[in-house]
Amino acid sequence: MALTSAAPKNSAGESKNHGTLSTPQLLIGPVDYGTTGQLFDEIRDFLAQHPGLTTDAVLKLSYFSFAILFPECAGIWPFVSVVASDSVGSSLLLRMIACTCLAPLHIGEVTLNSILTLPRLPYPTTMLIDQLAPNKELERVLRIMSRPGGRIVRKGKFHDISFPTLVCTAEPLRDRWIVDQAIHVGLTPTRGSLPLFDRQSLSEFARKLRPKLARYRELNFAKIRDSHFDAPGFTSPTRDIATMLGNAIADDSSLQRCVLVILESQDQEVRIGRTDWIEAIVAEAVLFLSHEGGRSQARVGEITDIVNGILKGRGQNIALDPRAVGHHLRALGIFSVRLNRAGRGIRFTKEIRRKIHRLADAYNVLTPLNQVGCEFCAETTSRTDAPNQPK
Ligand SMILES: [Zn+2]
Repeated sequence: MALTSAAPKNSAGESKNHGTLSTPQLLIGPVDYGTTGQLFDEIRDFLAQHPGLTTDAVLKLSYFSFAILFPECAGIWPFVSVVASDSVGSSLLLRMIACTCLAPLHIGEVTLNSILTLPRLPYPTTMLIDQLAPNKELERVLRIMSRPGGRIVRKGKFHDISFPTLVCTAEPLRDRWIVDQAIHVGLTPTRGSLPLFDRQSLSEFARKLRPKLARYRELNFAKIRDSHFDAPGFTSPTRDIATMLGNAIADDSSLQRCVLVILESQDQEVRIGRTDWIEAIVAEAVLFLSHEGGRSQARVGEITDIVNGILKGRGQNIALDPRAVGHHLRALGIFSVRLNRAGRGIRFTKEIRRKIHRLADAYNVLTPLNQVGCEFCAETTSRTDAPNQPK
């Protein structure tokens, strides 16, 4: 576990009393940041240099970097779930995000015990968890973290471990409780060269930005605490996420309203129904196409047709458009690429086929994994049958 922030002794969340002298304070001298819009643009332009982030993803992360400055004012737990199958791209993203946090804590693998033995952290700390394979322990920790104010007792001491958190995994988190509360960001694999950020240029950016963030927190704390931004057109929990992100923006109503645009598709998914249910159907559709003899790729449009066919066949009175299907594919960790002039889609490489089968198995799709002659059906079923094999 690598600590990015200097942290004095004592245990991590041990009864932290925000705002009192007992909380370690950051030694960052505040510096004028101009307007809220200028500070927002500075963060957005910096994150936009990452080639794997879509415009929406850049905006979501920029708003997040404002919200984590005021965790005590957020009605809910500030939480981002990044799904990234590309390890180089995700490692760069985490280093870039760390630059936009006042006190980042970058962690590889997380367990409850490791968090409880952390030294006392400066405030406001943001946890950046980089764990390729999500497991039960990670989800258990995230569940505890997702309840701000709820403390846990260990060895006669109270611990509050609810920190603003960003989790980066190669496969999507499955726990509904956690997934529902997340701001979702998909990182597309980057074929071209990544921007050359060496350690020095990143820390130079962080050194310039953090004093401005500190000033923003100091100057706007009362405003943010008393802010009443709302997104009544959204259903819960998207409404709560929008409220948290909008409330963290001081003196810029158009920037606040933009939150509604970037969360619209996430809200639509909540309205259509549980996302995991739709994702299971998308996984089933790509499984079906991957089983078609002689097929080496599938366009997003073709996947959409199959998805809608399955939906209709199961009596569901909804139809998805290719954009929504692309979004669900990304959420599953399957990233479309430009195939030809006909548009984007997925190539059925061995690696992708294996992934599709594992997803189909994980989501318990209704199509049985018993296609004659399919090595991945055989492989997946043998994994499922062997109880001690890690999944
Ligand atoms: Zn198969």
